[in-house]
Amino acid sequence: MTSLILTLNAGSSSLKTALYEASAEGAPLMTGLIERIGTAPFLKAKWANGATVERSIGHPEAGHAGAMKAVLDLVLEGAPDAHIDAVCHRIVHGGTERTDSIVLTEPLMKELAALAPYAPLHQPHNLSGVRGAMEAFPDALQIACFDTAFHRGHPWVNDTFALPRAYYDKGVRRYGFHGLSYDYISTKLAADYPDLYAGRVVVAHLGNGASMCGLLGGRSIASTMGFSAVDGLPMGTRTGQLDPGVLLYLMTEEGMNADAITDLIYKRSGLLGLSGVSNDMRTLEESDDPAAAEAIDYFVFRIRRELGGLAAALGGIDGLVFTGGIGEHSALVRERVCEGMGWIGISIDTAANTQNGPDLTGPGGSVTVLALATDEEGVLAREARRHLAA
Ligand code: ADP
Repeated sequence: MTSLILTLNAGSSSLKTALYEASAEGAPLMTGLIERIGTAPFLKAKWANGATVERSIGHPEAGHAGAMKAVLDLVLEGAPDAHIDAVCHRIVHGGTERTDSIVLTEPLMKELAALAPYAPLHQPHNLSGVRGAMEAFPDALQIACFDTAFHRGHPWVNDTFALPRAYYDKGVRRYGFHGLSYDYISTKLAADYPDLYAGRVVVAHLGNGASMCGLLGGRSIASTMGFSAVDGLPMGTRTGQLDPGVLLYLMTEEGMNADAITDLIYKRSGLLGLSGVSNDMRTLEESDDPAAAEAIDYFVFRIRRELGGLAAALGGIDGLVFTGGIGEHSALVRERVCEGMGWIGISIDTAANTQNGPDLTGPGGSVTVLALATDEEGVLAREARRHLAA
């Protein structure tokens, strides 16, 4: 019987999953996505042998538990002789204490549920995913990997806000997110670019969610995301950095409450809000609407500002890594971020950039510029193997 690892990334209405062999590193045996959980759940999956599955999965009211049952059925159909030894979950928030992945227990589930107010849009759904997996795979080791964990070693000045100290003590801190992606990139640098790994690297994770991170010797010392995943860079539908005075204005002058503001800053802003066209970079690049071009201008401008800030925090810069859907594929965004950055040692090779690198370093550049695919699921599988071996 083959021992397998299942990875799960549960969002509010979606669930990403992948299946790996427990005994060997390598590409997933299957990747799957369930969308529209709660309304009209639909499963799409692809097996390594090329077989695909696409189907509606029954009762919307079954929620995450129903989605997990669909994953169980999928695994039983595609790998009937296999046994799931571990299920590894991406959990957005690990609070101040969690600096590493950990085997889930009931007391830990309580601790993580208490963090829901810190990440109300993600944490409850992540934990529903865990509950569903505990029912569907009762004899598997359940493991949590936190998006905040990779950033927990930040120096105090990068961890705090200038609020009265009591708020820091209560946990109002800059946590930083996208930790699994940065962990993957750091590990990749250690393996393939060891000199860079040892140095000062800025990583730009540019996807639908977007953030940047400063790595010193492979460890995060600063991130553009803060207390929540809405800070820092503008994203598909999130504002990124916003003067808190704007929120006060919206409350006092426009009568908006917390729910209305949440909807505005998480779902109706960013590239979508600025362009009025789309949250999707590819669509914006193809659009001839001037507002789409302006949305890209703002996105690029904020990345360049943060790049300068992170390079200062690192005391210089040896490497710049682009990742995430936009970072990996958009030659336009990379070129515009790097344009005129010779003063900091950044130059990119136009031909290499057009082909998505991976090495984009241009003539005369002292900074190694890379475009790398990230692999958050691969980090979940790696952590599961580590815990199974312990
Ligand atoms: P998520 O954060 O949801 O995982 P991804 O990392 O998949 O998102 O990134 C999605 C973004 O990547 C979208 O804005 C999409 O338009 C953009 N993208 C993907 N391919 C390209 C491309 N070839 N050119 C420009 N943008 C691209």
